[in-house]
Formats: sequence, structure tokens, C-alpha cells
Amino acid sequence: MIHTQKTTASKIDSIDFNNLVFGKTFTDHMFVCHYKNGQWQTPEIKPYQPLTLDPSASVFHYGQAIFEGMKAFKDDHGKVWLFRPDENYRRFNRSAHRLQIPEFPKEFFFEGLNQLLKLDQAWIQSGIGNSLYIRPFVFASQPTVQASASNEYIFMIICAPVSTYYSGGEINVLIAEEYSRAANGGVGYAKAAGNYAAQFYPTSEALKKGYQQIIWTDADRHEYLEEAGTMNVFFKIGETLITAPTNDRILDGITRKSIIAIAKSMGVTVEERPIKVSELVAAHKEGTLQEVFGTGTAVVVLPITSFSYKETAYKLPQTNLLAETLKKQLVGIQYNTIEDTFGWTVAVT
Ligand SMILES: *Cc1c(COP(=O)(O)O)cnc(C)c1O
Repeated sequence: MIHTQKTTASKIDSIDFNNLVFGKTFTDHMFVCHYKNGQWQTPEIKPYQPLTLDPSASVFHYGQAIFEGMKAFKDDHGKVWLFRPDENYRRFNRSAHRLQIPEFPKEFFFEGLNQLLKLDQAWIQSGIGNSLYIRPFVFASQPTVQASASNEYIFMIICAPVSTYYSGGEINVLIAEEYSRAANGGVGYAKAAGNYAAQFYPTSEALKKGYQQIIWTDADRHEYLEEAGTMNVFFKIGETLITAPTNDRILDGITRKSIIAIAKSMGVTVEERPIKVSELVAAHKEGTLQEVFGTGTAVVVLPITSFSYKETAYKLPQTNLLAETLKKQLVGIQYNTIEDTFGWTVAVT
């Protein structure tokens, strides 16, 4: 069903797998499927290569585009695993729906993914921290500057070998008091391309001031803690783990829901509820704020070393972190070194 054209010149021997920069190196092949005349056409796998698009292609003007982020892992026996790919597929179509993009068929998605990974499996290095970052995306390709939903789209999957995302060191975050990431009724819950474009300016301003990330707060009053950059965010106060409930402003992270499930299975109390900046500051003053950490596919779990709010920096303890215990458990499941009692991992065959 999928038309496959293999590369005749693999790039793999030119890659230094010990010095990968996140998201800059791509495998030999890509998956492409065009939508026109009201339907998805025959999918293709072909050598990774540039695209040719009309300058009027709708995505350049109106940003009708969404994406996913997922990973494949190679265990010590050389077997390749995906982590909860059904969740990525579902979320892809939730995002597509919100952006008025036609749903992508399930059998194309999974067959394309499986075949692409089989073809490029030599690009996946075993060993904790090494993985293949998989980027499915779709964009409006109709040549028109008419401001309406496109009637042509291109769906693609590209893959990038990666090793550990953040190179360690301090993660100082700034709690947003001016800019917002998402609004009620908006597209915050979707992986819509424009959500990220709109974060770059405030984030670069924060970087200049020495912060690595912004913790986004609600757009109305900047009172509630919502997400950390492009991660979901957790707070450990006393022995309780707290994270904001998902809604139309918050991305329903797969790492988030996996961490909640693992924490609960370990007997940790988890509360999914709105949490105010004032509660965080008060807990820090009382000495009950133990940890703040972000979660996402790229980083898995990222402990935050300090947060700043109204010109005051609050340092966070960095020893005996629950974040590290949870990460170890999740990573163990992903690399098939810990038994997956949740039924999350799917073998590439
Ligand atoms: C992708 C993303 C996350 C994390 O989702 P995962 O499924 O865990 O990778 C969190 N927040 C935002 C804004 C995201 O785009």
C-alpha cells in the first residue's frame, strides 16, 4: 500500500552519534502523504529531501499546521519500541480537528511509522539517553492566499537521532506576568505550529535575563501555573504531587499522564488541580515546597533549580528528588529494562 523508494546513498557513516545536537540530524528516509480532491492519496516513503512548494502555499500565510513529538527506543537486545504511540495518534487528530485539517487515517499513520522505523532502524542507538525523535506533522499546501481552510495538505514523518536533550546545569525559570501562551477557547491544547512561534519572543527575552524557560500562567490574571515552556509542570508540596488539570489552554502531555500513573502506582498522592503562584511562593516560604519539574517527550523529566516571580528568585532543593525516581521508572519502561505493567510499549516489527 505504501510506495517505498530506498536511498542509494545512506548518510549514516557520516554521523557522529556521540555529538548530536537535538533535532538537527535526520535519518535517510521520510514518509509523505498528500491530501487532495477530498482524500489522502497513496503514501510514500522516500529518501529524506527538500520539498518544493508554491510561495502562496497557505501554511506560509495562515499557519495552518500541527505536529506531534514521539520517540522510538532500542533495547539491549536490539529490539525497537515505541512508547504509547496510540496517544500521539489520537492527539494528532485532536490538534488537526481544531485547526480544520482533515483527520489522518490510522492505518496510514501506523503502517508508515512502522515501515519508516524498520528502514531506518540502524539510526537508533541503544543505551539509556539515546533514542529516535519522531516528528509527524501536517501543513496546508494549497497555493492560495485566500484566508480559509486549505483544500490540500501534506502529511509527513521525519526522524532525528537524539541523545539527552538538556545538557544538565541550572534550569532557572521565570513565571510569566506579562505574556501568555494560550487563552480560553484557543488552541493551547493543540500542537499547533503557531503556539510555538508566539513563545519565541518572550522566551528569548527571558533567556537574555538568564532564565532557561518561562512558566506560563493563565492569560486572564497570571495567577495560576500552567506549563513550563513546552513541558507540563509538576510541583511537590509536602508529600503531594500537584499539576494543573488539562483544559483548552493546557497540552495533554503523554509524559504528564505517564508520570501521574507511575507516581500513583508508587503510592504518591497526586492532585490534578489549579495551583496558584501565591500557593507556590507560600509553600517555599514555609519550607514545604520540595520540587518543581517539567515533563515532555524530549526531556522526559526535567528538575527545575529555581523560579523567579516579581523580581525574587526562589531556589529549589536538588537532592533526593522524586522527579529522578519517576524518571528512572519511566525510562526503564521505555528501554525495556523494567517490566511494563501498564501496557504502554509497542514493539516495531
Ligand atoms: C508536546 C508538549 C508537551 C509535552 O507533551 P508530551 O506528550 O509529554 O511530549 C507539553 N506542553 C506543550 C505545550 C507541548 O507542546
